Amino acid sequence: MLETPEQSAAGRFDTVLIANRGEIAVRIQHACRELGLKTVAICSEADREAPYGSTADRFLCIGPSSAAKSYLNQDAILLAARLAGAGAIHPGYGFLSENAAFADAAEKAGLTFIGPTSSSIATMGDKISAKRAMMAAGVPCVPGPDTALPDDPDTIERIALEIGYPVIIKAAGGGGGRGMRVVPKADVLHEAIALTREEARKAFGSPSLYMEKFLEHPRHIEIQVICDDHGNAVWLGHRDCSMQRRHQKVVEEAPAAGIVPDIIQPVGMACVQACLQIGYRGVGTFEFLYEDGAFYFIEMNTRLQVEHPVTEMTSGVDIVQAQIRVAQGHVLDLNQGDVTCEGHSFECRINAEDPDSFLPSAGVVTHLALPTGPGIRVDTHIHAGYKVSPYYDSLIAKLIVHAPTRAEAMARMREALAGTEVEGISTNIPFLRALFEDGAFAQGETDIHYLEQWLKLRRAA
Ligand code: ADP
Repeated sequence: MLETPEQSAAGRFDTVLIANRGEIAVRIQHACRELGLKTVAICSEADREAPYGSTADRFLCIGPSSAAKSYLNQDAILLAARLAGAGAIHPGYGFLSENAAFADAAEKAGLTFIGPTSSSIATMGDKISAKRAMMAAGVPCVPGPDTALPDDPDTIERIALEIGYPVIIKAAGGGGGRGMRVVPKADVLHEAIALTREEARKAFGSPSLYMEKFLEHPRHIEIQVICDDHGNAVWLGHRDCSMQRRHQKVVEEAPAAGIVPDIIQPVGMACVQACLQIGYRGVGTFEFLYEDGAFYFIEMNTRLQVEHPVTEMTSGVDIVQAQIRVAQGHVLDLNQGDVTCEGHSFECRINAEDPDSFLPSAGVVTHLALPTGPGIRVDTHIHAGYKVSPYYDSLIAKLIVHAPTRAEAMARMREALAGTEVEGISTNIPFLRALFEDGAFAQGETDIHYLEQWLKLRRAA
């Protein structure tokens, strides 16, 4: 699309403060530099030696090691932005990336928040208002009302019967796989509601709950979108993130295996329509459960996701650069017709954790070898001598491969995993190597429970 002179002059900032750490801080810094932007890196005391500090234009320590006092400290981050002369803040993922109040505070401080408006974040952050917005836009949702559960026990029972057991009770403000309870049958319904309500009140500060059908063997399939401020939106294909342990994604791939264009096309277009309807700006992900040939929306993430690289590999679009450019006010430089999906991509999350117990493993990386070769990408912030601290998420690297077919991409990932050596700390690499030898995974189309069952069988063997 062609830009008018005002639109192309819209570059409202030339310095970006990256309000995050680890591999995503590196990824965003690369994107900024390639766009000719200056970067400000921040750190907590535990991250003073972070390698992306020395490659940034400014590097500021904003607080103690605890995330609550540093990466989640809104005032400290806004002060750092002011001191360093930043014009924009990129929140990455996690931390403050889906915090509507922070997006608002950044904008009020005269900074561009590289993400959607605070009102889009707030709408999507409440799962009931998100579901309502999606139903209104024609996005297929899980059966169940788009309103909060009332207090009246009889009405609650009627709603459950209308949906049909099993049902799932979810906290409107829930996240990170918490605040959900499955109800197999009527006699445990009220107890489940009382427990989830109490949990929701304590963990998310709101007792608001809703109910929907519990799908028993779904896959997790998501759609990446990007939108500008000028009424343009596209979807960049789909990913399968069904390989999960405790609701945490472990391996992701694009495209989702066995999903034919006829079935995904209307869902992708409905996502685009929903974005236009709610005036969405920036990158976002619509998460769906997919069961027996149908898609059911569960939530929208209003930020960059950990697994964005598999879509970058298959679509050829640099999602982080595109995200920054639309935040600068530029017109999206691609149409839906330009979007293609070439080949197949996998991403493995390399975590500093015990491969059997999955307990986090902190310490110094004494030796590091990373794989190289065609179609291999590694997103990481670690190096030999790097100290993995116990304060944050255990993700230390993402191993990403791309090949013409799914089978070739799997073979390439086996090679890449064989060429990855991390010593001094424990990692989940042995577990990932075993998973990439699994026959059912190689066939594709495994559901969200597959990995847990596979682990159980392995433990029993
Ligand atoms: P969170 O924001 O905590 O990640 P989600 O709504 O995305 O919550 O749900 C997290 C996970 O819980 C899903 O990936 C899926 O495994 C499971 N889940 C959520 N809703 C349902 C449902 N209606 N039926 C079956 N499983 C569900």
